[in-house]
Amino acid sequence: MDREPVMQRSPLRPVVRTLHAEQRRRLIPVRGLQFVSGTSLIVPYYHMVSDEDVPHVRHLYRFRSIKEFEADLEFLLRHFVPVGLNDVVALVDGRLTFPRPSFHLTFDDGFREVHDVVAPILRRRGVPATFFLATAFLDQRDIAHHNAISLVLDRLSRRSLRSHRDEIERIIPQSPAGPVDMMSRLSSISYRDRAVVDKIAAIVDLDLKQYLADSRPYLGSEEVRSLIRQGFTIGAHSHDHPLYRDLALADQIDQTKSSIDFLTAAFAIVERAFAFPHTDCGVGAEFFRTIFSTQIVSLSFGTAGLVPHFHRRNIERISMENTSAPAARILARQYARSLYHRCRSALSG
Ligand SMILES: [Zn+2]
Repeated sequence: MDREPVMQRSPLRPVVRTLHAEQRRRLIPVRGLQFVSGTSLIVPYYHMVSDEDVPHVRHLYRFRSIKEFEADLEFLLRHFVPVGLNDVVALVDGRLTFPRPSFHLTFDDGFREVHDVVAPILRRRGVPATFFLATAFLDQRDIAHHNAISLVLDRLSRRSLRSHRDEIERIIPQSPAGPVDMMSRLSSISYRDRAVVDKIAAIVDLDLKQYLADSRPYLGSEEVRSLIRQGFTIGAHSHDHPLYRDLALADQIDQTKSSIDFLTAAFAIVERAFAFPHTDCGVGAEFFRTIFSTQIVSLSFGTAGLVPHFHRRNIERISMENTSAPAARILARQYARSLYHRCRSALSG
């Protein structure tokens, strides 16, 4: 069916409809880019938008300031139609096509700022979005190991490293192929070795539980309910944010199913959407076959950029972070990359 994407069940819908009319007059040759990429949908993803320091994130990646995020949004709304998660599911199901280039906005990790900073901006512009939460961290019950690493790095950047160096050196000795400097070694501690982060936090007098209580880095259940009431959608981002390719298949499925089941029971989410923590790279076909054939997941999202995935229900997304480049440049690079992939597969096919 070829109809205008709509946001059923969402109070954002009337505003979105107004934007559609506005954008009909302003669409640029993104149609050409749409042809190049072979897709009518792009799915940008963010984690954080803030003008604050955000110590649990600032050593991991560069995130957008409010002004930068608003500029991204302005660009996206000028060239694409915003669509909701239900429309994306309908597109993948073949019940809907997008006649114009469209975007669905997503945010990973369930940081409190998506409620406090992002949602008010999106509501003003009538833009739907999906927020993907790792359920172990909801209500500040625990801290993601990569956020704990950022806090350790923050602590070490503000205090003399010398007094702790020997102790930390014993815990994360330099490996032949690993990074030489200690800060890089700290940054590269994996999910599998997350207990090491707790040990180092204790050495630098970092009380992670106190940080959770004082700073409330993640969404609380009431804030999630508020986002849903405002018309936004919620998806799962695993239980505690592992790197999926390092997990056995049974653990991959358990992390996925337990987090979606939890959100369904707690918040009555309609679409069983899932976004891979870190990356979907290296996750095998059997995982995708299982989660979709058993309907554990209705739609999943990776982080590989504007390229097709081998499973049609897994949509790769475009990172809008780790760069100061404006949205126009990020997307131009993605379309160029997409064209390269299409040419290469056409030549090899
Ligand atoms: Zn994440």
